[in-house]
Amino acid sequence: MSGKILLVGNWKMHLNVSQASLLVQRLHERTRTHRNLEIVLAPTMLTLQPLSLQIDRRKFRLAAQNAYPKDEGPFTGEVSFTMLRDLVHYAIVGHSERRKFFHDDLPMVRDKVKAAVRNEITPILCVGETQHERREGLTRRVLHDQVTTALQNLTAREVMEVVVAYEPVWAISTFQGEYARPDDVAECMRYIRHQITQLYGEHVAQAVRVIYGGSVDGSTVRGYLELPECDGALVGHESINPYHFAAIIDAAYRMQVSQAHEA
Ligand code: PEP
Repeated sequence: MSGKILLVGNWKMHLNVSQASLLVQRLHERTRTHRNLEIVLAPTMLTLQPLSLQIDRRKFRLAAQNAYPKDEGPFTGEVSFTMLRDLVHYAIVGHSERRKFFHDDLPMVRDKVKAAVRNEITPILCVGETQHERREGLTRRVLHDQVTTALQNLTAREVMEVVVAYEPVWAISTFQGEYARPDDVAECMRYIRHQITQLYGEHVAQAVRVIYGGSVDGSTVRGYLELPECDGALVGHESINPYHFAAIIDAAYRMQVSQAHEA
């Protein structure tokens, strides 16, 4: 872990504008004293603009859950990274729900990562194996293919800015929602950094932030955050409840405070 702990709440297709506004208000109240954490909210596209006016920017940052890689054109129903550039710091790219339900394949994920970077938006690149791939012993191959393809068109300097979220698909609440052992997560995170080292060198790989996602809650988050390989967490289901998300933020904050005392 280097720098601030990064906690990202992916609200998926939940919460309308007023529900989202209420959540932010409650979350703000419950995390008033929690400093030195980077808390990122990823609401639906519709909610980004109103939330951008509401949030305390010293406390929260915004992320898009998705965007289209072309800057503009005849692409009915889509929103480009260009249109989001002044609104969000981050964009989630390659989430397993997008890969599975919307067929975002490796080239599409690569193009989205590039488009995000081109528009000065930091991609949160989600990678991870399915249960089937894990059972077949294909985890490393999947991570290799997802990481190397997604970063293909970036310079070393650009890669340093990317956040990689290791999200085993079988651990995400949408799918099997199984508990991933921190030891196993650490091994995959090391492998991800190893891949980046092979491509761009040690210096770049150490700069990349790698976070964990998959059924994280207030009682499990610390087990992941304590891993030296881990820079934060991507939280889905538990982030749409202000009390549950605040419990995760609180656990991260307490860990940070206790580590500072020990140092
Ligand atoms: C996610 O969707 O990125 C995620 C981690 O979801 P959940 O926490 O609900 O498993």
